[in-house]
Amino acid sequence: MYNKETITKLNELDRKHYLHPTSSLKQHQESGPKRIFTEGKGIYLTDVNGNQYIDALASLWNVNIGHGRKELGEAASQQMGKLAYSSSFNNLSHETVIQLSEKLASMTPGDLNVFFYTSGGSESNDTAFKLVRHYWKMKGQPEKKKIIGLERAYHGITMGATSATGIPQFHNMTTSISPDFLHAAAHKTNCELGDKSDPDYFRSIRGIIEKESPETIAAIIVEPIQGAGGVIISPDGYLEAVRKLCDQYGILMIADEVICGFGRTGKMFGVDNWNVVPDIMCMAKGITSGYIPLGAVAMTERLRDNLAAVSNDVLFHGFTYSGHPTACAVALKNIEILERENLADNSRQMGPELLKGLKFLEDKHTIVTKSRVKGLLGAFELFEDREQGIPFNPEKMAAPKLVEECLSRGLIVRAVTFGGTNIIALSPPLIITKEEIEKITLILSEAIQAVK
Ligand code: PLP
Repeated sequence: MYNKETITKLNELDRKHYLHPTSSLKQHQESGPKRIFTEGKGIYLTDVNGNQYIDALASLWNVNIGHGRKELGEAASQQMGKLAYSSSFNNLSHETVIQLSEKLASMTPGDLNVFFYTSGGSESNDTAFKLVRHYWKMKGQPEKKKIIGLERAYHGITMGATSATGIPQFHNMTTSISPDFLHAAAHKTNCELGDKSDPDYFRSIRGIIEKESPETIAAIIVEPIQGAGGVIISPDGYLEAVRKLCDQYGILMIADEVICGFGRTGKMFGVDNWNVVPDIMCMAKGITSGYIPLGAVAMTERLRDNLAAVSNDVLFHGFTYSGHPTACAVALKNIEILERENLADNSRQMGPELLKGLKFLEDKHTIVTKSRVKGLLGAFELFEDREQGIPFNPEKMAAPKLVEECLSRGLIVRAVTFGGTNIIALSPPLIITKEEIEKITLILSEAIQAVK
């Protein structure tokens, strides 16, 4: 616990000098930072006042192995002492990136055995978009460059990733969303299988492909479970239908596994729940459990071989920190822990406990509905009248208020309010126990009582 003077100083300096990501600037300038954290251990964070919080979002859906794992710091320190940095440009390499690539290849489905490295999810997605366009260009089809994403999808904040994102609020800041990115209605499995009688057919991926012509479409990008859009789980059969559609029309399938990867959904990767193998898989977050920035793009050997066969050119795409040795060393240690402690299994086993907790909330509070969980990714919704399906008036700020009530009771969860929804998302560290889930449920219940 810090003294009062230090806390006041930190608050002042934050307000004066720090522009927070995805935050209200007005609120920041009026009230300063909401909390200043100093420590993390297991599923808990501690702030400057010595208050403890259950981090039921694994911070940003990323701290999969939990906070305070000294082993990761030791792995980073050893790597820095041995080889702090070396570039991978121009076919130079180092031992740790080779080891990580071999390890990832043993984990990813199908022949997704070739890896390009980035510093996070947005860079991974932008890399995927450039790679697929390059692929088609090299194959003599440069007009095949459009990308279809889904409504409510979140793919990040770089230009390509923002364009692919299907949440309009993220487009507001950017005046030049690329017209080569199209957005389809999510999860219209029947349409993707060819049901033209559905009035939404023209908004489905298949409808859009037919309208635009498959000759113009490079790739389709999907999150196996939409995270930031409100934890929307692909219905069974959907990803399989998208895979089929891609095969039918000669379009590449990109899975955005930035949240779903590394055990979050009860399997190592989200697509493993449906046995679908995409052509490209974008990863970040859980690859290092947030201990150091790293992202990766997995592609099939077939895709790499095709690229190599048709292009003698240098691949003009690389970040200074592509394959950063320390990030790779931390990723290797993180994966070792995930496997040693069977955390994907724990995620699968704790999922039903989390769902039980959310159903308890539904039983107890008439404003709670639509609970869903896959692994340790879950959500519920708040409705003014759930029987009649009447949502809360957005001015009531039901979900954001609940998040504040939770925070004041030592629980961190997330509100999703896009498109008039009041969704509460949960994504706790994969080490969580049944007792800790019960604790989360009780705090949520108290907080819901306070906003009713
Ligand atoms: N893709 C998905 C599914 C995400 O949830 C996120 C971030 O939350 C991103 C991409 C962007 O990743 P980053 O913030 O590391 O750039």
